Amino acid sequence: MKLIIHGGFFSESSQSAETKLAKQNALKRIVQDAFRYMQTNHTALETVVYAVELLENDELFNAGIGSQIQSDGIIRMSASLMDGKSQKFSGVINIENVKNPIRVAQHLLKYDDRVLGGEGAIRFARNNAFAEFSTEIPQRRKEYEAKLAATGVGTVGCVALDADGNIAAATSTGGKGFEIPGRISDSATTAGNYANACCGVSCTGVGEDIVSNALATKIVTRVTDGMTLEVAFAKTFAELKTIDGFAGAIAIDKTGNIHHADSHPSMVFASFDGEVMAVFN
Ligand code: ASP
Repeated sequence: MKLIIHGGFFSESSQSAETKLAKQNALKRIVQDAFRYMQTNHTALETVVYAVELLENDELFNAGIGSQIQSDGIIRMSASLMDGKSQKFSGVINIENVKNPIRVAQHLLKYDDRVLGGEGAIRFARNNAFAEFSTEIPQRRKEYEAKLAATGVGTVGCVALDADGNIAAATSTGGKGFEIPGRISDSATTAGNYANACCGVSCTGVGEDIVSNALATKIVTRVTDGMTLEVAFAKTFAELKTIDGFAGAIAIDKTGNIHHADSHPSMVFASFDGEVMAVFN
């Protein structure tokens, strides 16, 4: 069993050393908590949802509570998950006023239509008993009012390999901040979140760059076709560089190798296998 989570990018210019430490500590706590959850007979799919929900509930990260505010003053969130075993993807795009977008995406997995956007996603959530909940925190309102448009400050994601060898990936975001209403984040696309029986990947960074480079899908496809995670990451990130892309990614393959990369400093993430904990940024 293996687990890796990320908390998006840490911005040296607009965040303090205390915030960095707090994020590291939160990631350490959550990766261990989610690992214990997986150990108690939960699948990779259940575990990635559980981990991302904990990250969404922590206002340090730009997903769920603490999400960034768009240019019209409204928070719109996106989240997705992919079950490597069944090859099913589900996601919500630009959903408003729900506490945990990842839980709505999980609920949607049961349906034939598996990606919903905007009004449709909101209506689906209300019709399925997801209570109205404001995820705004005063800090984000202050940043919004000061028009401090910081890119990539803390989308969250998780990739898990469970005891049966199944892989799943989940990603959740409050977006880039100050985007034009209607903008589509990569986080609920297969460029930002992808898994199959061989590999799972969750991305963070500038969504437009992640989509242009089809980051998660490319890495997973390369590993499926026989490349090691290391080589697949090196090749994909070299391609990202040619478009001056800004992104980071975490991954696990079916044999339990864990890998990560970021194009710029510094993505915050933690991995755990029951014994070895790694926390980086
Ligand atoms: N990828 C997210 C987006 O562009 C932002 C992030 O990762 O922080 O919506």
